[in-house]
Amino acid sequence: MKNECVIGTARANAGERATGVIPVGRRSGGGAIEIPLIVVNGVEEGPLLWLDGAVHGDEPEGPLAVLRLVERLDPARLRGTVVGVPVVNVGAFEFSSRGNPADLFTYDLNRIYPGRPDGHLTERIAYAHYTTMVEHADLEVAVHSGGAHSYLAYAMFYTATPSGIELAKAMGPRWDLLLRQTSERGSPQAAMRQHGKPAITVELGGLCDTFPGRFQGNADALAEGFVNILRHYKMIDGAAQYAERWMLGYQKTVVLAPASGLWVSEPSVLRRRVRQGERLATIYSLSGDVVADVQAPFDGIPFGMRTNPSVQLGDWCVFYGVVEEEITG
Ligand SMILES: [Zn+2]
Repeated sequence: MKNECVIGTARANAGERATGVIPVGRRSGGGAIEIPLIVVNGVEEGPLLWLDGAVHGDEPEGPLAVLRLVERLDPARLRGTVVGVPVVNVGAFEFSSRGNPADLFTYDLNRIYPGRPDGHLTERIAYAHYTTMVEHADLEVAVHSGGAHSYLAYAMFYTATPSGIELAKAMGPRWDLLLRQTSERGSPQAAMRQHGKPAITVELGGLCDTFPGRFQGNADALAEGFVNILRHYKMIDGAAQYAERWMLGYQKTVVLAPASGLWVSEPSVLRRRVRQGERLATIYSLSGDVVADVQAPFDGIPFGMRTNPSVQLGDWCVFYGVVEEEITG
């Protein structure tokens, strides 16, 4: 029989689920700053899969995907442990904003891992999450999306190690675009890498895609990926499914807006291989002139597209990857 699992304030005996928090501190009004988590403790030994949602507060797909998985999981049939953190950045989620408006200095939580115990507010939240995660987790999945600005389409950042590629493939058939993580620091995934542990960052959806039915569809697709991971690592029964082939590459750039105005993207370029010079979008001035014809900077694959039509000079517009090789098996 498996031991009790204690993470933050959550205590779950074997075959139980429990909720708790990672405490961080207090707000000026006295409310708690903490990171809620759900522990599902299995009945037999196995890996600990750690799931993170809403590192960015305007990305609600991760929170719902984590809840969907937890409600499906039967701890009496689980080997190992699943820890779900629906919302890592609570202060940002409360405002549906990328970062916490209460922190002007370290706004973007996904750029500052491992954080600092004596740093700015968000750095302290990062540090509390980081120390707890790396102590317990064997595998980590962070869910992101296009948030308030964009839509991202089944893209994944993976760690280029054998165990990192294994985890990436375990997300299942829909996840066939694998982008190598290129930054050594900043994200939970990078922090896991520093400890030699596999982690992936998956990208699906955006606030533009929370229309009734669509939001749940994206969350269910993510939860299906988590279930596939559990099957791959033999944490639950059932046969894992895999893509027939994978495109391996990296995010070479995010195309930034060359002009301000009204953003109108081409409808057919997302997740398609495009050639250098192909039109990705048009930006109009409010007098009706075309102020920018946004073109593919090189041969590649746009895996995310701006969906907020109000665009300012320098804004993120097209998330752009290059495919270096295709692999099977
Ligand atoms: Zn994000």
